[in-house]
Order: sequence, then structure tokens, then C-alpha cells
Amino acid sequence: MPLLSTVSASLADVLALLLPVECAGCDAEDQVLCGECRGALAPRPMSRLLDDEIWAYSALAFEGVPARVIRRLKEDGRTGLARPLGRALRAAVLAAGAAGDAVVVPVPSSRAALRRRGFAVAPLLVRRAGFRPVALLAPARVTADQRGLDRDARARNVAGSLRVRPRPAELVRDRPIVIVDDVLTTGATLLEAARTLRSAGLVVVAAATVAATPRRSSATHR
Ligand SMILES: [Zn+2]
Repeated sequence: MPLLSTVSASLADVLALLLPVECAGCDAEDQVLCGECRGALAPRPMSRLLDDEIWAYSALAFEGVPARVIRRLKEDGRTGLARPLGRALRAAVLAAGAAGDAVVVPVPSSRAALRRRGFAVAPLLVRRAGFRPVALLAPARVTADQRGLDRDARARNVAGSLRVRPRPAELVRDRPIVIVDDVLTTGATLLEAARTLRSAGLVVVAAATVAATPRRSSATHR
């Protein structure tokens, strides 16, 4: 029956998403995430000062197992992986000072990324980290994909790319804000988010990400 086969094909798609058969970190069979890879996602918070403007706290180095698991979440749509990644993110958000009444603001996905993935990465990770995402930022214009751009090109690409949503911003005025994104690379996006919020008179205290690209030196990033 055509209808039934269509239904079972859809069901197979759904089950393939719900029950991935390979570990997201090492391809071991029949596990979503094996014990060893789960251990590789244990948070080891590190911090980096971005352009003397904002401290960014990251739970993991973006390499090896953490990088693979984040890519499986973002590019393969394995949204169940947001839970273990969210646990790591929680440590970074707490290190960033969000223990009290801080407002956790996810960096919004570009419209193109949202269309491609069908879900927004940062708000999902914030929820899985146990915080309520407050959508203060929205895309202001179309941007190019940051992948493949160098540091200067990334900064130019994101300049003026975000705007503050006025109504939710009024509700959190004077409260400390922690900005959250999935991966810290050059910091261009987090800096743009911080500048956009601060120019609207809001109080940004820090940023937090699940992972950060490893750096060759421990010098401050400028
Ligand atoms: Zn594994």
C-alpha cells in the first residue's frame, strides 16, 4: 500500500534520527554516545578575553570528540546530542557568572542556517544547559556563512548583523546578561552580540560557549 509504505518510510526516517546507531564521537556501533566519548565531554572551563571587551568562557576545546559531536548536532541534526553538550555548556555559563539573576541570551542563527537545519542551535543548547533562553537578539540582515572566512572577513561579515528586540529588552533592562553561542572561533560573533546589546544600554557581563577553537598561545586574543 503506497500510503503505508510512505508512513513507514517516514517512520524509518524518524527512528534513524531518534536512534542513531553510531556513537557521535567515535562511530562505535549501537550507541548514541559511548562512555569514553561522554567522558571527553566533561567540562574543563577556560576563558579568553575578546578585544579587551568581554570575557568568553568555554567548556571544551573544539577538537577531537567535542568537535565531532558538535558537528553531528549542527550538520546531521542529531538534536539528542544537545543534552550532553548542554551539560558541558552549563559549566561555562556558571563560570561566566550566570548563577544569580543573569539573563542568558543565545546568539541567533542566520535565517539561512535556520532553514538548512530546521532548528536553532544556541537556544536548544541553552535549554539543555538548564537555563531559559531569552531572545533579545535577532538577525538584522543577511550574512555570509562564517565558515571559510578569515578573522578580518568574519568581523566585516557580522558588523551590524544583529539587532536588539526592543520589547524583551525592556523587561531585562539593568539585569546582567550572559551571551551564549555554540563555538567560539575568532570571537567576531560574540563581540558583535555584546556591542549590539551594550549600544542598546543593556548590561553584558560575559559570554559562554560549549567549545572554543584551541589557541597556539595563551596570549590575549586581539
Ligand atoms: Zn564514542
